[in-house]
Amino acid sequence: MLGELFKGLGTTLRYMFKQPVTVQYPEVKRPVRERFRGRHELKRFADGKERCIGCSLCAAACPADAILVVPAENDPDNMRSHGERYAATYEINMLRCIFCGYCEDACPTNAIVLEHQYELSFYDRRASIFTKEMLLVPEDKGHGDPPPILTQLNRAPSPPAQIDL
Ligand code: SF4
Ligand code: SF4
Repeated sequence: MLGELFKGLGTTLRYMFKQPVTVQYPEVKRPVRERFRGRHELKRFADGKERCIGCSLCAAACPADAILVVPAENDPDNMRSHGERYAATYEINMLRCIFCGYCEDACPTNAIVLEHQYELSFYDRRASIFTKEMLLVPEDKGHGDPPPILTQLNRAPSPPAQIDL
């Protein structure tokens, strides 16, 4: 009994002279691990064009049905992305999201990426819908070149099929 008491007091004494590990959040923020999956970002290419081509593969892969993509045809005079289409609407319901990263894995252009931001609190359920305007990075924050499949295809419409009877 006394042995356990002194053992416990010894542990207390030992820790009294050590640096505390308490982090004074929110003034001090601990860096997260490289592979941490936090709030999503919609990325751009280095030329400023949106990486998202509105294909909806991320929405199809999402197990929580948290993503809504509404694609639209690109205007040739004002291309938003390098593809035929872009995401006119892109929304993620953060109340549904389980941060599994399946959307990121499914994206063919690396447009949707789970980044390191973890401060996601809100007071209103409607604020849980993160819109494209909230998710899209600024134009000067793009990176990488578009893949040839998006830039080198001659996308003229196919002629009607000729059927010889
Ligand atoms: S991280 Fe997972 S749950 Fe969240 S939007 Fe992406 S696929 Fe859906
Ligand atoms: S984020 Fe990626 S997978 Fe989702 S619609 Fe855009 S291009 Fe497709």
